[in-house]
Amino acid sequence: MKNIIFLAPPAAGKGTLSEMLVEKYGYGHISTGDLLREEVKAGTPLGKEAEGLMKAGKYVPDDLIIKLISNRITKPDCENGYILDGFPRTLPQAEKYDELLKELGKDLGVVIFIEIDKQMAIERACSRITCPKCGRIFNKYSNEMKPKVEGVCDDCGTELTQRADDNEETFIKRFDEYMEKTMPLYDYYKEKGVLETIKAHSSKYDTFNEAVAILEK
Ligand code: AMP
Repeated sequence: MKNIIFLAPPAAGKGTLSEMLVEKYGYGHISTGDLLREEVKAGTPLGKEAEGLMKAGKYVPDDLIIKLISNRITKPDCENGYILDGFPRTLPQAEKYDELLKELGKDLGVVIFIEIDKQMAIERACSRITCPKCGRIFNKYSNEMKPKVEGVCDDCGTELTQRADDNEETFIKRFDEYMEKTMPLYDYYKEKGVLETIKAHSSKYDTFNEAVAILEK
């Protein structure tokens, strides 16, 4: 299986798409946002450093992120292929990741860019609710993405919460941070010839089908 990097603005649906691809193909799933939220919850020194930045919609320093990633991609669930959901997000991260791959003798795989406009992303983020225990993502106003029982995770029964950074004010900062720091990666990967583009459709199944077509061509 080809490793996947999702390059997408916040709330484009990379978390949901990752869940669907993990279920279909058995990929390892690495979300740097989830890893950071776990560190914050556990109150580790890394979590303490990251918390304020995340709440302000700012990126966490590259060296901390690289440390998280290098520990994670060598785990057994990543042996046959993994999805990077939220990494790399800056050019220095992408360059460090290239070095890491070389050291480990692994392939970059495919980079999938998910196109979404800012207004649609804001609406999604403000109605997104997530499971603080298993990380599953729901949406209050989407028939497809609503939990079966209001406010409760379908998978583990935990009460759903809204992420601290899923409000309009912080979301706009996150989106702007993405445009400034992450969009340059589009050209970086295009030049390498590994970039593919899909659209964030209102139905997650349409987006999923586009991704599957790329992985199976
Ligand atoms: P996400 O769950 O991917 O939306 O990430 C939530 C927040 O975690 C981001 O807004 C950043 O503050 C931080 N974060 C996640 N991944 C990275 C990364 N690769 N580089 C820097 N900060 C990150």
